Amino acid sequence: MASVVIKDVRKAFGQVEVIKGVSLDIAEGEFVALVGPSGCGKSTLLRMIAGLEAVSDGEIRIGNRVVNDIEPKDRDVAMVFQSYALYPHMTVAENLSFALRLKKTARDKVDSRVDHAARMLGLSDLLQRLPRQLSGGQRQRVAMGRALVRNPQVFLFDEPLSNLDAKLRVQMRAEIKKLHQSLKVTTVYVTHDQMEAMTLADRVVVLQGGVIEQAGRPLDLYDRPANAFVAGFIGSPA
Ligand code: ADP
Ligand code: MG
Repeated sequence: MASVVIKDVRKAFGQVEVIKGVSLDIAEGEFVALVGPSGCGKSTLLRMIAGLEAVSDGEIRIGNRVVNDIEPKDRDVAMVFQSYALYPHMTVAENLSFALRLKKTARDKVDSRVDHAARMLGLSDLLQRLPRQLSGGQRQRVAMGRALVRNPQVFLFDEPLSNLDAKLRVQMRAEIKKLHQSLKVTTVYVTHDQMEAMTLADRVVVLQGGVIEQAGRPLDLYDRPANAFVAGFIGSPA
């Protein structure tokens, strides 16, 4: 597990600054949810932690390394997206092992990692199926499994459940919680669903217009919102 430290980070696309000086310390093993309205910068911040976007200013540390100049594949993070982007012509087992095979990981290590991830996610009986033979929830589990087999120091989730129906979302939420409780991998979880954030996270960070409005434990945000925006967003009675 690694801590993630974000220090005075800014991001501009051309002349437009979309992350305007964000600082956040995420402890080893902590589960932090990033919430806020569409366009507030959640994905951009997450992508900078992953290394998929360069930082315009400031610093990001993962563990004891400054990672600003480190490539995504060397950051020890794994990201799960909203669109699962499974390889349609590969079985579940092949989808799970793909990244490890690319890295020329030893065969028995690949097998044991895939086996472990499949068991954790209830995919053991589905390993020979193709993605089109799976339900939406099962596909999302495979996407999570692909992140899991890489044994990352940090999990990054970008609205992983927003393509699922309401019932399945609640069910998957419980699975993600269970997974975090057993693995304790540091997690940054982007969602626009405040209930999802409140039930999953140790700490919720509310973003608006590229700045942090408030960061705190779910109940503290609910009981003591810092301002009307947070109150409205979290849905507590103003
Ligand atoms: P969120 O995930 O909270 O909905 P994003 O991080 O995707 O928000 O986007 C934040 C802002 O940055 C938005 O105004 C968006 O249009 C802009 N943006 C994101 N990516 C790019 C890009 N590659 N080029 C230009 N503008 C971008
Ligand atoms: Mg987004």
